Amino acid sequence: MALPNPQPNAPVVPVAPPAPSDFIRDIVAAHVSEHKYPRVHTRFPPEPNGYLHIGHAKSICLNFGIAREFGGVCNLRMDDTNPTKEDIEYVESIQADVNWLIGAWAEDRLGLKQHGKEPEAKSVEGKADFFMPPVFGTSEAERKHSDVKLEPFYASDYFDQIYEFAVALIKKGKAFVCDMTPDQTDEFRRLGKASPFRDRSVEENLDLFTRMKNGEFPDGTRVLRAKIIVDAPNIWLRDPLIYRIKHAEHHQTGAKWCIYPMYDFAHCLSDYIEGITHSICTLEFEVHRPLYDWILESLELARPLPHQYEFARLSLGYTVMSKRKLMQLVDENLVSGWNDPRMPTISGIRRRGVTAEALRNFAYNIGITKYNGVTDVSVLEHAIREDLNKRAQRRLAVLRPIKVVLTNYPEGQVEELNAINNPENPISGGRKIPFTREIYIERDDFQEVPPPKFFRLKPGGEVRLKYAYIIKCEEVIKDAAGNITELRCTADLDSKSGGATAGRKIKGTIHWVSAAHAVDAEVRLYDRLFTVAEPDAEGDFKRHLNPHSLEVISAKCEPSLKEASADERYQFERLAYFTLDYDAKPGHLVFNRTITLKDAWAKEAQKG
Ligand code: ATP
Ligand code: MG
Repeated sequence: MALPNPQPNAPVVPVAPPAPSDFIRDIVAAHVSEHKYPRVHTRFPPEPNGYLHIGHAKSICLNFGIAREFGGVCNLRMDDTNPTKEDIEYVESIQADVNWLIGAWAEDRLGLKQHGKEPEAKSVEGKADFFMPPVFGTSEAERKHSDVKLEPFYASDYFDQIYEFAVALIKKGKAFVCDMTPDQTDEFRRLGKASPFRDRSVEENLDLFTRMKNGEFPDGTRVLRAKIIVDAPNIWLRDPLIYRIKHAEHHQTGAKWCIYPMYDFAHCLSDYIEGITHSICTLEFEVHRPLYDWILESLELARPLPHQYEFARLSLGYTVMSKRKLMQLVDENLVSGWNDPRMPTISGIRRRGVTAEALRNFAYNIGITKYNGVTDVSVLEHAIREDLNKRAQRRLAVLRPIKVVLTNYPEGQVEELNAINNPENPISGGRKIPFTREIYIERDDFQEVPPPKFFRLKPGGEVRLKYAYIIKCEEVIKDAAGNITELRCTADLDSKSGGATAGRKIKGTIHWVSAAHAVDAEVRLYDRLFTVAEPDAEGDFKRHLNPHSLEVISAKCEPSLKEASADERYQFERLAYFTLDYDAKPGHLVFNRTITLKDAWAKEAQKG
C-alpha cells in the first residue's frame, strides 16, 4: 500500500505488499523452521536472448519475494549458455528492468557479485563445507561502505568449473562423446536406442572431449552426452546432451570457448556453485527435475544440494508472452521496439506509465499455483487503475477539441480558478487554472441530436464546466460542409463555487481548457495489442493484431502540463491516465495513455 505522498511531486514510498501464501512458500517456511539450510537462497535466471516480459515479473517477484520474507538472498543470474542467441543489449535491459521492478524494494536481498569476480571455485570433489558465496546487496548502506561495482552473476562465470564437472562425469563413466548427427541422435532417443558410441572408454572420451574443447571439430559433429538410461520413460533421461560444439564468440567469455554446456547441465551446477537452496522455475521443467537431481547426485557433491520446484507460468489474455514471438513483432516492425508501450515487456509496461508498485501488486495478487491457465487481462488493468487512482495528479485536457465561445463573458478577462490535484490524496493540494471567454470542450461532450439520457451539452441544454460555471448552448456554428466548427454559449455568471446559483442542480459536468492558454500535446492512445484473448491459440498469432492499438492525436492541455514530469502520473479528468513519453522534448509534449478510467472492452463485451 502506498504511503500518503508528502509533497505533490515526490515519488510514493515503495512498500511491500503483504506476504502471500502459496505451496512454494509453505515448503520454504517448513525448511526454515527445521533449519534445513543456513540461509534461504533463490535466484532469478533469465537467458539474455530477449527483453523481460510480465511473466518474468511474476518469477522475479516470487523469487525476490521469498528472499525478502524469509531473510534470504535472491541472485540475479544471466543464464548465458547459448552465445548465438544472446546479446549484451539484453543483459543490460534485464538489469535495468530488474532494478526498476524491485530495486528500491529489495533492500539488500538482491544478490549481485563484485564486478569481474567469480564466486570461489567449488571443489569438483565437492566434499567442502556448505558453500556460501559472498553476496553483495543493493542497500544504500552497503553501497556506501564499498566502492565495488556490482553486477549480476553469469552462468558463463562458471564455464571452467562446469567443464571440470563434465570431465569428472566422464571419469566416473557417466558421460560419453557421441558422434551421431543431430537427426540420428533425436531419432535414437525417440526410439529409446543406445548410441553406438555409448561404450567408449573413459580414456577415449577424455581425449575426444579435450579435442572438442580445443576446437578440433566443426559444429554439430560431436556432443557430450550423459550416460543414464537409453529407454527411460522420461525422455530427458535418455542419455541427454550436456555439451555441444559451437564456434561462436560469447558476449562475456569472448573466443575462449567453442564448446558450451546445455541448459540442463549448466543450470543445476550454477545453482550448486552459488549455494542456491530453492531453484524455482516454471512447470515445463518438471520433467527435467530427475536430470537436475541425477547430475548433482552423480557428481557426489556436498550436501545440502539445491532442489528444483515448479509453478505455473503466467499467461495473460490479449497478448503473447514468448520471447520468440515478441521478437517477431519487433523484427517485423509491427511495434516500435521491445519497449513499445503496447508490448507485455517490463520495459514497454514501464514506458506506458505503469508503476513498479502496480506490477508487483499484480504479481502478488495472481498467486502461485501448479495449474496453467490464462489470467484475465482485466486483473492487470485493475491493479494499474487502483495504483494510478491513488497517485495520479488530476489535470484538464481535451483530446478532440471543439471551440466554445461564451458570448456573455467579458473579452480579455482571465479568472484563475481553483482545481484539486488529487481528491484521493488531500496533501497533494491544488492549483490554479485560467478561465476565459473562449474555451475548448471535448467534441464528444456535445451532441446536436442527443440520445435519451445524454447529460452533456446539447442545443438549448445546460452543463457544468468542472471547477467553473454552468453554461447553456445557444447556437451551433457550421462550415459550408455542415461540420460543427464552434458552439456559442452563455454562462450563468453566478453559478461558480460560492456564487448565488452555485447550488443549482445540473446533471452533467464536463472538462474544458482555456483556448488562449491551452498547450498542445501529442497524445498516443494505446489499446490492447490483440483483439482476441488467446492470439496464439492456433494459426499465426499476428493475424489477431489490433489495427487500432495506437491512435496519435493532438490534444489541448491546461497550461500547468507544460511542466509535466516523467516521474509523475496524470489523470486527464474523465478520460484516462497518462504519462510523459521518452520522446517528449522541451516545447513538445508527448503523452502515453496508460489506461482508460473504465474498462471499455468489458462494456463492449456486455453489448455483445
Ligand atoms: P520465454 O518462454 O518467454 O521465451 P524463457 O522461459 O525462455 O521465456 P528465461 O529467460 O529462460 O525465459 O526465463 C527466466 C525465468 O523466468 C525462468 O525461471 C522462467 O521459468 C521464468 N519465466 C519465463 N516465462 C515465465 C512466465 N510466463 N511466467 C512465469 N515465469 C516465467
Ligand atoms: Mg528459457
